[in-house]
Amino acid sequence: MEECIFCDIIKNRLPSATVYEDNEFIAFKDIKPLAPVHIIIVPKEHIASINELEEKNKEMIGNMLLVAKKLAKEKEISDGYKLAFNTGRKGGQLVDHLHLHLMGGWKEEQ
Ligand code: AMP
Ligand code: ZN
Repeated sequence: MEECIFCDIIKNRLPSATVYEDNEFIAFKDIKPLAPVHIIIVPKEHIASINELEEKNKEMIGNMLLVAKKLAKEKEISDGYKLAFNTGRKGGQLVDHLHLHLMGGWKEEQ
């Protein structure tokens, strides 16, 4: 089975500033935030990236967006935020475990 730093966070082998957790996901504050609010939403299943998604993951991806919406509301950034799946090194992906960046909280439009 593939293991990575996000798997370590999921398995409590590494600490994180967790803001949300359920059976399917964990979400925590990004250690190097690029926005006033920067949360990483991670499925507990190790899937390397969007490139490895399969038909069977369709519901999980939908649920991931609903977690993003819920956290945006909780963090009071629903009036403006960005969601990003960096994919591959050329796409800025450094951690090979699928994750969704939720970024917002700016004063002005970015
Ligand atoms: P990406 O570049 O899309 O792979 O994003 C990985 C993100 O995870 C980066 O924004 C990192 O700052 C963040 N990150 C890496 N390690 C940790 C950690 N231990 N806790 C919180 N965020 C992390
Ligand atoms: Zn992993």
